[in-house]
Amino acid sequence: MGCFFEGLHCRECGASYPGGPTAVCSLCFGPLEVRYDYPAIARAVSRQQLEARPKTMWRYRELLPLEGAVTVGSEVGFTPLLRAQRLGQRLGLSDLWIKNDAVNHPTLSFKDRVVSVALSRALELGFSVVGCASTGNLANSVAAQAAAAGLESYILIPWDLEPGKIVGTLVYGTHLVAVRGSYDQVNRLSAEIADRHHWGFVNINLRPYYAEGSKTLGYEIAEQLGWRLPHHVVAPMAGGSLITKLAKAFGELETLGWVEAGAPRLHGAQPEGCAPIVNAVKAGRDFCQPVAKPLTLVKSLAIGNPADGPYAIAAIRDSGGDAENPSDAEVVAGIRWLAECEGIFAETAGGTVVAAAKRLAERGVLAGDQRVVLLITGNGLKTREVLEAECPPPRTIGPSLGEFEELLSEDRAVAS
Ligand SMILES: *Cc1c(COP(=O)(O)O)cnc(C)c1O
Ligand SMILES: [Zn+2]
Repeated sequence: MGCFFEGLHCRECGASYPGGPTAVCSLCFGPLEVRYDYPAIARAVSRQQLEARPKTMWRYRELLPLEGAVTVGSEVGFTPLLRAQRLGQRLGLSDLWIKNDAVNHPTLSFKDRVVSVALSRALELGFSVVGCASTGNLANSVAAQAAAAGLESYILIPWDLEPGKIVGTLVYGTHLVAVRGSYDQVNRLSAEIADRHHWGFVNINLRPYYAEGSKTLGYEIAEQLGWRLPHHVVAPMAGGSLITKLAKAFGELETLGWVEAGAPRLHGAQPEGCAPIVNAVKAGRDFCQPVAKPLTLVKSLAIGNPADGPYAIAAIRDSGGDAENPSDAEVVAGIRWLAECEGIFAETAGGTVVAAAKRLAERGVLAGDQRVVLLITGNGLKTREVLEAECPPPRTIGPSLGEFEELLSEDRAVAS
């Protein structure tokens, strides 16, 4: 296989850089982004060739930033894209689909995609210690995939994360550090640590590579719909990287001639208690006002000062998209609706997306017969405490048919 990855360039001033462990332009402080030779990719691989490859995100390897073969996470991705008829009925959407990254390998969130790319690149760049600043899912995935690759890892999190995400990180034998502070403080500290110790932090000095992994969600949606793009995609936003890279992915597919022109409208979802990107879109601003103290049970999306905020706003606006910020109560209802209608247990970010889609449908932004894809990016078993009030303990009976029949007749009486 050839290498079509041409190094980095600055999103703001266009300056070129070699493909090193750096995320910021030294001339203007703009973010660096990976560049590819698209004409060469179009000559080297066709849709048909790609379809014959193993069903993982690495079938799109020409569009990912490695010099050699994938070394970490070669089984990640190609999660189910499901028709969601029953949820669609509830929302008044007749062509609704779910991209289910709640069952991504190996740690049940979309973060497995970005970590696979970042750690494969970290090995190419010679790092032996890796890490991240995380709101939870990234911690799980870096710990797991670093363990599988035999890399030492240091992971920093805000001190108030859900127990499921803490145990689901520690089990892999990482060095987990809880920081008394917000995610933004954790992030700043992580940047200092990566710099001082020359470690590869996936969402800091390896961020340009990490971010490319998100594009595979977009490629998979297109391929799974028969190389046709939907009218709308509703995406959760934390730092704003995923939605920005979805736009890049759909644009690349058009550039390569693999789909017809007409990219989807991209809609962003954040919880009311931490919605700097949604607030900016609603106010017509092109920059985010940071949220100093996120107040929401959606901890996976609780980033008060999103690194890719202005680019996420631009991606939404340029696509003709919109944004919504449901309350925590709506988020929990969204988790219930998805579970009851489709049998999928999503974490709080998934509830945020369902609740945002409900609002967008009510506003007529999502029209009834248009094709809509909801991104479900994390698994509900990691954040089950948010449902404790909703799901009281089961009724308990003795091991006798008589007691069961009594219970059943109560149920029947309630139902009639
Ligand atoms: C990280 C994450 C996202 C998206 O994060 P960005 O920083 O916007 O790329 C979405 N959903 C879940 C569950 C996540 O953990
Ligand atoms: Zn620059």
